[in-house]
Amino acid sequence: MKITDIIATTVTVPLEAPLRHSNGAHWGRFVRTIVEVHTDEGIIGLGEMGGGGESAEQAFHGLKSYLVGHDPFQLEELRFKICNPTASLYNNRTQMHAAIEFACLDIMGQKLGVPVYKLLGGKVRDAVPFASYLFFRLPNEVSGHGEVRTAEQLVAHASELKQKHGFTVHKLKGGVFHPEYELECYKALAKAFPKDQLRYDPNAALSVEEAIWFGKQIENLNNDYLEDPTWGLNGNRRVRSMVSIPLSTNTLVVNFEQLAENILNPSIDVILLDTTFWGGIRPCIKAASVCETFQLSVAVHSSGELGIQLATMLHLGAVLPNLTFAADAHYHHLQDDIIEGGKLEYVNGAIQVPETPGLGVKLNRDKLEEYAELYREVGGYAYDRDPSRKEWFPLIPNTKWADPSAGRHCEVPVQHAR
Ligand SMILES: [Mg+2]
Repeated sequence: MKITDIIATTVTVPLEAPLRHSNGAHWGRFVRTIVEVHTDEGIIGLGEMGGGGESAEQAFHGLKSYLVGHDPFQLEELRFKICNPTASLYNNRTQMHAAIEFACLDIMGQKLGVPVYKLLGGKVRDAVPFASYLFFRLPNEVSGHGEVRTAEQLVAHASELKQKHGFTVHKLKGGVFHPEYELECYKALAKAFPKDQLRYDPNAALSVEEAIWFGKQIENLNNDYLEDPTWGLNGNRRVRSMVSIPLSTNTLVVNFEQLAENILNPSIDVILLDTTFWGGIRPCIKAASVCETFQLSVAVHSSGELGIQLATMLHLGAVLPNLTFAADAHYHHLQDDIIEGGKLEYVNGAIQVPETPGLGVKLNRDKLEEYAELYREVGGYAYDRDPSRKEWFPLIPNTKWADPSAGRHCEVPVQHAR
């Protein structure tokens, strides 16, 4: 079998409300690039990458000269054809490789008539549990609904998600408001859901001292882990020496060199595996095997996904024997998806692993065109800016927190700003 074409289409799909984080916000929608890999046997494989626009579409188009004629079953060759580690110093294609790898696995599964997890060692679970992934949110620009700013709003939002999807693990994305304010919000969650597990992720916005202080305040709660409390392996090692909660990261250990460093001189206890950041599903499985050997824990990270990437997270989660923590997904914040049948559903806080051949998801071409058109209309957005604070930009550690007493006074229209 041979690859004959690669087509990339950037889409933007609305969220229920803008999601705030320490670097800025997702401005009321996700921008993703959908990749279709065509073959000489008529099988089309699907991939997905974060971000997009003309440059992303062109970048995938540029891979055609490398990959037309390539056998999609030759995954190790694929890695060296476009991700050779020394050539990558000049042309970092790790995330593009991930999208092509997803598509090749999808093609292989369709050709062989098996779901992707069967190509990856076989599943050890039928469904992957997820955390609720709670964000402070700005109100929806159109409806005015969906704001999460106060502890009361946060608990109400978490209760609604728990009732609707069955979550028993709650992750608070912080780093937006002052740590003392976010601590009160986190404690309010612990009080409201005393039997559930919690995790807090300020995206490295805290200083080492603030991170130690925050960790000590929550040591008595049902914490899974403290995620990226501060920046840097050395900073986290200092936090780890002072706080009796496991630390996790999706920023500091995202390749094998960093994983080796973290094993030789431990800073992080739980490695969050992202099928895009690590360059595909298979690198995540390799990393999980290394972690299993050295008895580090793993979980599945979400960098903001539509249904294709979600499927990669489900197949990954299905085959990891050492997945002892619920996965993360932004997915329930989406209003829609570009796959046939609409959004995949949570049952009791988990999503069923697809059983049809390949990744198990198909493109809804009407939806693809609808959200590609929306992207052409409104363009991208500045992920590392907050639409409600026009002049602000993030420092690490942050010293300029958002004001929690301020309601929405968005200075730039969320949907239309570029
Ligand atoms: Mg994180």
